[in-house]
Amino acid sequence: MSYDNDNIFAKILRGEIPAFKAYEDDNTLCFMDIMPRVPGHCLVIPKTPCRNILDATPEQLNACMATVSTVANAAMSAFGADGITLQQFSEEAGGQEVFHLHFHILPRHEGQKVGPHGVMGDMGEIKANCAKIAAALG
Ligand code: 5GP
Repeated sequence: MSYDNDNIFAKILRGEIPAFKAYEDDNTLCFMDIMPRVPGHCLVIPKTPCRNILDATPEQLNACMATVSTVANAAMSAFGADGITLQQFSEEAGGQEVFHLHFHILPRHEGQKVGPHGVMGDMGEIKANCAKIAAALG
């Protein structure tokens, strides 16, 4: 399996399509999922090409995990969450739809159900939730 330079997250990294960006550093980017399963659902990706967990280098994984931890803590406080669900899908059979490595961060509240897959969110709400995470990051 090879990396497709025209996947949607590669286009976000190149600035060819817009995204609500909550955090970035030299090696990673965190932006909001446009079909959020809970308020604050965001994605962490490496800035370098990588299809999924099966071809990721230790450096890419380390960089992503550091950002996941930073953003997860910010999301906990931004949404007054009780916990975090972290998801990663690799290859079609594993549930992957976009073939650039990404980690889903879902801030969760006690008893809260996760919403349906594939439902476009309200862009105003997503933008506001992005600002909440960014503010919590300082
Ligand atoms: P997965 O590949 O792990 O199944 O999920 C891909 C995720 O990317 C989905 O949660 C989907 O909602 C999200 N997604 C798909 N297209 C776009 C897009 O154009 N922009 C953003 N921000 N998220 C997207």
